[in-house]
Amino acid sequence: MKPQLPVYIGSDAIPELIRYCRAQKFDRFTLVADENTYAALGQRLENALTQGGFAVKTIVLTGREVIPDEHYVVQVLLEAPIDGRPYLAVGSGTLTDIVRFASHRTRTGFISVPTAASVDGFTSVGAPMVIGRWKQTVQTQPPLAVFADEMTLRAAPRLMIASGFGDMMGKYTSLADWELGAILWDEPYDEAIDQRARRALNRCMANAEQIRRAGEAGICSQMEGLIETGLCMVEAGNSRPAGGSEHHLSHYWEMTLLKEGRPAILHGAKVGVATTLVARRYEKIRHMTRDEVSVRLAATPLPDREREIALLQNVFGAVAGQSILEQAPFLDMTAESFGQLKAKIVERWQDIQAIAATVPAPADLVELLRTVGGPADTRALGLNENEVAMAEKYAHYLRNRFTVMKLAYILGL
Ligand SMILES: [Zn+2]
Repeated sequence: MKPQLPVYIGSDAIPELIRYCRAQKFDRFTLVADENTYAALGQRLENALTQGGFAVKTIVLTGREVIPDEHYVVQVLLEAPIDGRPYLAVGSGTLTDIVRFASHRTRTGFISVPTAASVDGFTSVGAPMVIGRWKQTVQTQPPLAVFADEMTLRAAPRLMIASGFGDMMGKYTSLADWELGAILWDEPYDEAIDQRARRALNRCMANAEQIRRAGEAGICSQMEGLIETGLCMVEAGNSRPAGGSEHHLSHYWEMTLLKEGRPAILHGAKVGVATTLVARRYEKIRHMTRDEVSVRLAATPLPDREREIALLQNVFGAVAGQSILEQAPFLDMTAESFGQLKAKIVERWQDIQAIAATVPAPADLVELLRTVGGPADTRALGLNENEVAMAEKYAHYLRNRFTVMKLAYILGL
């Protein structure tokens, strides 16, 4: 599927959106925002639409922290008129995901109106939701179109901009993990999509200084990059091009914070720091010889199914069932299939090292995060040593994906 949705990023977002809506013969909308995004852009958009003769039902989500959970989804479903009108999602990633889910389940469309270049999820199909305190990605739908107002993006909180940069930086490790999964675990892979995402990544990273200053070129290149990689996920039909082990670490921390009732940390802030941790694994791999790998693998027994399940129950508690389901292909490995995997790792070691070489050194990634003014280490995120160690050890159990963390586990790193 080649996504062809209209994307506009610039200073005329509202008139462009209105022009698009007239062409599409839309005459009524459900506009969803939170208190901040309503003040930043939602109210202005609502006024412009009303003056233009459109009917607008506005829903402003309130609360200390808006998360994509049962509570907010039901609130939107309760308040939205049931007449097939499209939604307008005015906000950042969370708000967009709530609307993405609600619009999909009510069989209508939505238009994304991002208020910050904070995340790559605007154009994606999957909506990360928190249901029953388990973080899961629900397959829904991409927006009909995206209209991003440049001045609103530039005026967004500095930390949200840095968060978007962190989400973008995560593509270094997600793309490397994707290739690893392709050669070692036969996961579907698409070279052209990989290259497209990589170009967007490189453009954004080259603009770090401009992004720090919230300059026009910097913020627009970041937003374009985030949208482009979002479209790569749509085209790939899954999140592999834009989410690997750095996202699994981020999900693990997110679930920990939720469970303990602690305030959430911005998605991209977690992803950016997690990328520096995952990059350490890739750095280690770059320094390992094939002989060293053979010796290590020879000493690695087939993971014991019952022991692994007991471990997952211990680590994930009430939500362990989900993780056990996700891990079925790994838990069900036989001595024979595990032997084949080990042989493949040795055989493809040169390719694995070439993949590892695409990930910058951890120190360079830390420097990039510092340049844009985002948190650059786990302490700055407010996470303790144990939480970091647990995520490094167990986050790879969250998804059925082959990543560098899985490889590190098999290599006993
Ligand atoms: Zn992300």
